[in-house]
Amino acid sequence: MIPYGRQSISESDIQEVIKALRSPFITQGPRVATFENALADYCGSKHAIAVSSGTAALHVACIALDLGPGDWLWTVPITFVASANCGLSCGASVDFVDIHPQTHTMDPDALAAKLEIAARADRLPKVVVPVHLTGRSCDMVPIHRLAGEYGFAILEDACHAIGASYGDTTVGSCAHSNMAVFSFHPVKLVTTGEGGAITTNDDEAAARLRRLREHGYTRESPEDGEASEPWHYRLIELGYNYRITDLQAALGTSQMQRLDEFVARRNELADRYRELLSGLPLRTPPPVESGRSAYHLFVVHLEDTAHLGRREAFRALREAGIGVQVHYIPVHTQPLYRELGFRAGDFPQAEAYYANAITLPLFHGMTDAEQDEVVSTLRRILA
Ligand SMILES: *Cc1c(COP(=O)(O)O)cnc(C)c1O
Repeated sequence: MIPYGRQSISESDIQEVIKALRSPFITQGPRVATFENALADYCGSKHAIAVSSGTAALHVACIALDLGPGDWLWTVPITFVASANCGLSCGASVDFVDIHPQTHTMDPDALAAKLEIAARADRLPKVVVPVHLTGRSCDMVPIHRLAGEYGFAILEDACHAIGASYGDTTVGSCAHSNMAVFSFHPVKLVTTGEGGAITTNDDEAAARLRRLREHGYTRESPEDGEASEPWHYRLIELGYNYRITDLQAALGTSQMQRLDEFVARRNELADRYRELLSGLPLRTPPPVESGRSAYHLFVVHLEDTAHLGRREAFRALREAGIGVQVHYIPVHTQPLYRELGFRAGDFPQAEAYYANAITLPLFHGMTDAEQDEVVSTLRRILA
């Protein structure tokens, strides 16, 4: 089976983890700070805070943006469930903005229209989570402009998009947002096994995020001048154990050195797919006009003119050893969200996207021959 995604672990990645294992620290030692510096340097953000997963990163980011009961978080229906669940984890309410039919990311016009209605009902969101689906940045300039107009915070879900750029800004620089969140799960571009991070340019938010990842305590002296002993720490707010280990950070730092190589190969494979798939009843993702996609995923859409539907094509591909996937089932149609009142039909563009989407294999170590096999299998099935 050719998988849809697979990590790339080099010999030097392995050596770095072994060095960490032999060091005095195996969690929250110096390698975590080194990894964070590598992330911040790459993204061009002032701070990076590494945590135990992308989901944990979204959770603490929402807390640091003061999201709580009575507040609204908006995201898109076509995403991994964690982009929406972080709102529920904070006790907030969640709503969705439909996607743009061509870019498949948050539609700024749909957002503007929804904000206008929400303003009248006094139900404006506190946090909006645009998702850089498949590694392609959302159109951040109009979203950022709306944030200024309506006063919400922007939390970028950049879990697919490490190494991507938008115009001349690097995703994660937070040039158009308050914070950006990454995941280092093995199917993502850079892996630490499990892991995540938040980037931000906000000093106060960064300090709070560091505190939240370690139970909410601080070792800083109280401001009232009370004597502070070397063993003192003070619990300030409810936090979590969302630490990343030094072993993971060692792997992450080593992987970051290979990121540009990862993105370059993925772009090469994406260009090759576009060329090889031309003439088939499939829509390939539109190329990025300004900036570059990280190509975490390569999603194609089966045209109505194809002689078989998505279900049949998916089954035939799997049977032929092609590990296709579907990203994603619209979040608002999941049972948990139906219980909250959402219904099929609520977000027509998202549902149309989902109806005929298939994710083709794409990963750093994929050979041209493997890609040729995916294409020839597709040609045979769609002939
Ligand atoms: C992977 C992913 C997450 C969650 O990251 P984990 O590290 O698996 O917790 C969140 N959002 C999106 C869009 C993702 O793809």
